[in-house]
Amino acid sequence: MSTILDRAQGALYGLAIGDALGMPTQLMSHEEVAACFGVIDGFRQPPADHVIAAGLPVGSITDDTEQALLVADALLAGGGHIDSEDLARRLLTWAERARERGSLDLLGPSSSAAVAALVAGGPLDEVGRFGATNGAAMRIAPVALIISPHDLDALVDLVVEAAQVTHHTGIAIAGAAAVAAAVSGGIAGASVGVATTLGIRAAEIGQQRGQWVAGAAVARRIAWAVGLVDATDHDRSIRDVVELIGTSLATQESVPAAFAVLALHPYDPWQACLTAASLGGDSDTIAAMTGAIAGACHGMDAWPLHAVQTVRETNELELEILAEKLLALRTGP
Ligand SMILES: [Mg+2]
Repeated sequence: MSTILDRAQGALYGLAIGDALGMPTQLMSHEEVAACFGVIDGFRQPPADHVIAAGLPVGSITDDTEQALLVADALLAGGGHIDSEDLARRLLTWAERARERGSLDLLGPSSSAAVAALVAGGPLDEVGRFGATNGAAMRIAPVALIISPHDLDALVDLVVEAAQVTHHTGIAIAGAAAVAAAVSGGIAGASVGVATTLGIRAAEIGQQRGQWVAGAAVARRIAWAVGLVDATDHDRSIRDVVELIGTSLATQESVPAAFAVLALHPYDPWQACLTAASLGGDSDTIAAMTGAIAGACHGMDAWPLHAVQTVRETNELELEILAEKLLALRTGP
């Protein structure tokens, strides 16, 4: 039997493991991933000509985990709440450091637009109103450690705090709410199936928040996506994830894709992350969200010891302590 701390740690390590597995395959087509790597069965080195990951060591995390750590720091600094200005400052500092060290993996489209607008003097409550991509969802997991899924309205309120400065749109908030509720549910003891149901309900609530922007309903896309895949027909299911659900950084594609992969491998978190990493597209983010949810539902047992060691040592992560600190702030039954 896993404990709540074990499941919280499983969520954070799952985020990092999924991110690092998808690091070398991101931005490639599914066919290119297969041609370049064959079957993805572990951490891989990015190709030398990779657009943003070239030269990164095997097992490196990317912006998904790094920005989730910024959200965690902002939550700890705010005693369980997030001040938008504080988070914006942390994102800006992170982007500057990333640029200084020569990283090509900088802020995504919504975050960079919001931060640029803020630097140009734009009002804090308006600069995020066009951000609809998956940056809010990719970095939301720490929020799930500090609030139970018992009151989904309260959970979505906290998601809005974390998202609004860069992603204050119904679509982005819905995607982040889905991931947060699923992770929070897993930490509270939910199976992948129950966590998915919580995610769908939170997405419905989240889609009503923030600015309306045109795009498909995230909750309905998740429900459709998990029903589309069939564990007895893996190849057809993967083709459907790639060609129908979609793997782009659009929230309404990548978040449903993560839930679809979980539905294919509800009892095998490591294989779920490997499958997500093999998709290509925004595979690091899809695998990071998949890993966070699967790790929350299964605890640290989800992850092979070597995988935990690899992400811990390659990236100097101490996620056990972070999980403890965040859990100390957890509210709700
Ligand atoms: Mg990334």
